[in-house]
Amino acid sequence: MIERIKNKALTGERISREEILYILRCNEEPALKEIFDAAYSVKVREVGKKVHLRGLVEISNICTKNCYYCGIRKGNSEVTRYALSQEEILDCARLTQKFEYGSLVLQAGERSDAAFVDFIEDTLQKIKALPGPELGITLSLGEQSPETYKRWFAAGAHRYLLRIETSSSEFYKELHPADHLLSERKKCLDYLREAGYQVGTGVMSGLPGQTLESLADDIEFFHKQDVDMIGMGPYITHHATPLGQKFPNYASDLLLGLKMIAATRLALINVNIASTTALQTLAPDGRECGLLAGANVIMPNVGDLVHRKDYLLYENKPGTDENAADIRQNLEQAISAIGEEIEYNTWGDSPHHTFFSAGKESRQRKGR
Ligand code: SF4
Repeated sequence: MIERIKNKALTGERISREEILYILRCNEEPALKEIFDAAYSVKVREVGKKVHLRGLVEISNICTKNCYYCGIRKGNSEVTRYALSQEEILDCARLTQKFEYGSLVLQAGERSDAAFVDFIEDTLQKIKALPGPELGITLSLGEQSPETYKRWFAAGAHRYLLRIETSSSEFYKELHPADHLLSERKKCLDYLREAGYQVGTGVMSGLPGQTLESLADDIEFFHKQDVDMIGMGPYITHHATPLGQKFPNYASDLLLGLKMIAATRLALINVNIASTTALQTLAPDGRECGLLAGANVIMPNVGDLVHRKDYLLYENKPGTDENAADIRQNLEQAISAIGEEIEYNTWGDSPHHTFFSAGKESRQRKGR
């Protein structure tokens, strides 16, 4: 099996569900190393030894939802709620320009009221109008109406990350209240595509009760959905959540998170894959391990330190006491130590999106 996977990595053929499952089940050397090397070789061929950065702005921890695993769920009364002002968000955008990251991610708990939709639209327009290099903008603001997605796209956002957390409707019900519907979330991925965005999704790995077969289905779902970007990470508990209370001493699985990245790179080939902070929570060099397993995007926080401890989706999140300038310097050192290079001042769009846009009416606002 490993020879077949290596051969497909060489020829550019995507791996099958059976091969994805082999990777997820593999726990022994030397096969593990061969899997990671194969995934890394595909990444280097498709996207280079380059890391794209997105300045992450956690604009608000106010959320109308109650996902059972999430530390900022509406029902967690221990959280001090905040929402950045427009000027604070614009300051983060200016810092992203100064750091030459090229792109910005605006992330928040889910709200869809008219005041929030208007605020985001206006803020996007103001970010796009800033003097200096024009930033690419990714949004991660949850489920919205097709109309809202279109308005935000017209205002300047061109990538959207909407994680589904699992593609299994049965398992989704174990992670969410009854009124949170996977079918609605999947529909939103279609709305985003129709609105013109580069579309990203992702899942958590290593959840209590999750099977490797279900994770293999998730990767197959990414492929069928024809997504451009993936953001996923290992499940990490939060004590003030129903799932964290049900499984208080549950051990997270870094290796499984890395195998998910490798299998996704080998199955989807030319998408952007984020090496997420959850990996770094489980090992100081977790994000570098993610890059070596096939990821090519990192999202360093550019927000003010004052709110970092209020945006804990899970516990022990790193970087809550590290200012944006220190994060940049430490990232540079860590990335160059593994022989990779940060690509500054580019939007770092997904080659998958660019490739499939060729010859069609372009779905890109602006290719760089
Ligand atoms: S996962 Fe997202 S939608 Fe669910 S409670 Fe957390 S912030 Fe809200």
